[in-house]
Amino acid sequence: MTELWDFCVLGAGSGGVRAARRAASYGAKTALVEEVTLGGTCVNRGCIPKKLYVYAGSHRGGFSEARLFGWRGFADASFSLNYLRSQKNAEIARLQALYAESCASAGVGVFRGKASISGSSLKGRSLKGRKDDYFVISIEGAKSQAKELRAKSVLVATGCEPLPLAEAVATGFVGGELASTSDAVFELEQLPERVVVLGGGYIALECAGIFNALGAQTTLLHRNDKLLRSFDRGIVKHCLEGMAARGVDCRLSTRLLGLSRQSPQGREREGAGDADKRGGEIYLRIEDDLPIPCDFVLAAIGRRARTRGLGLEALGVAMDKRGKIITDADFATSVAGIYALGDVTDSPELTPVAIRQAEVLTRRLFAGSDESFDAHFLPRAVFASPTIASVGLSEEEAREQGAVRVYESRFVPLRASFAARAGSCERVMLKLIERGGGEVGSGEVLGCHMVGSDAPEIIQALAPSLRLGARKKDFDGVIALHPTNAEEFMTMRDFRQ
Ligand SMILES: Cc1cc2nc3c(=O)[nH]c(=O)nc-3n(C[C@H](O)[C@H](O)[C@H](O)COP(=O)(O)OP(=O)(O)OC[C@H]3O[C@@H](n4cnc5c(N)ncnc54)[C@H](O)[C@@H]3O)c2cc1C
Repeated sequence: MTELWDFCVLGAGSGGVRAARRAASYGAKTALVEEVTLGGTCVNRGCIPKKLYVYAGSHRGGFSEARLFGWRGFADASFSLNYLRSQKNAEIARLQALYAESCASAGVGVFRGKASISGSSLKGRSLKGRKDDYFVISIEGAKSQAKELRAKSVLVATGCEPLPLAEAVATGFVGGELASTSDAVFELEQLPERVVVLGGGYIALECAGIFNALGAQTTLLHRNDKLLRSFDRGIVKHCLEGMAARGVDCRLSTRLLGLSRQSPQGREREGAGDADKRGGEIYLRIEDDLPIPCDFVLAAIGRRARTRGLGLEALGVAMDKRGKIITDADFATSVAGIYALGDVTDSPELTPVAIRQAEVLTRRLFAGSDESFDAHFLPRAVFASPTIASVGLSEEEAREQGAVRVYESRFVPLRASFAARAGSCERVMLKLIERGGGEVGSGEVLGCHMVGSDAPEIIQALAPSLRLGARKKDFDGVIALHPTNAEEFMTMRDFRQ
């Protein structure tokens, strides 16, 4: 008889690792199964490599800025993507080791392999109500360790994976397999000269910003004009203008018809055989326009839940049409004893969300807490160039709730004042939304939004004020910290309704 665990977590990403460590610290005998690498998307293929690459790109702009402040000697500057990649890999290895160490010290049993829930002690009958119920978890690819675990409850935290273009396009579209996904971006050894990024979400904008900042000729191509749907429209527009000013060719409402590879010998072929994947230009055929030639196509067109092959259907775990696991507010699925959280569910696909959910769930399950997960005033950022950050409602969302006063400011930050004199037109943008009605300044601040290099740091620090119900006059009452970009949030007086 295999060992019986109190709690088995499938997936060692942001949510899974936190849940496993916390559950173990509350005394639950906890197993954690991971197919690929500890740390999941955030550490290995998401937030961390992405932000390191954003930093890498920001240095290029820094050279020209530094010249305006009197520095010389950057004429010979060159960039090695392969070196950046090896630095990034070393940092990720360090983080993976920390994750392994923290799991070991919390007493979590870590198992490597692809997990699926292969059965329950009740053999098809309802799992509700019996204390000795357990699930059987099979681990495919497990080597010198258990191939099967039994657990009283299971948490599915298997996250999402990029949706490949070839699987997203209608029949008749040729060449989808020539496009890569964001996972490949952080494995490139050489910077492609020309890059086309497909998509209108934050990963598309961030990757377009990275390639452009590192020196690739970059095109952002999106099928409609609605980028970053959940963000304030005015803020998105300002960001796009900034991206265009930095050199990204932003083509919105553009229909992609297909991709083909021009082999190094000059022969054009539709789609890609194995040989075609190795070299030559890629052509993107566009409706009503000339084809776009490039060296690398990134499809950042969405992510899909990693629920396939987990055995959930057989157990009766309900999923929506995108394959996301349906849960109630307490992360319980339709099958008693099986929980889910993070990207694999229909919640905001962000690391701190998965982590907070893991904290709440494990305190509820193993520490007698009755708290619930609260995502109000969730701060969000898009590390594009320029960067966006937001907390609270967009102007559009706020107007749906009633009257508003909207304060907006666009200005050249002091740091960019020399560049502005030299012709750069980049501006910071701040927007604050006050609930309307009553005396000016008496309404709560419903949302703060910013485009500019410090935006994420500033917005994160404003988030508690909004949660506490700060009114505009509370902002006005704070003496500004000068000279900063953030002080403008305290000094905005003109508004529109
Ligand atoms: C390019 C990119 C940039 C991002 N940038 C940010 C950012 O700046 N800020 C932010 O907050 N979020 C960002 N995210 C999102 C963030 O990474 C995710 O929201 C977060 O990782 C979700 O955590 P999770 O635990 O739900 O899933 P994941 O971290 O994806 O972990 C799931 C784990 O489950 C494993 N797994 C899957 N199936 C099985 C199986 N059958 N058996 C065993 N293991 C399995 C996977 O290998 C993976 O390790 C980014 C994502 C991407 C792709």
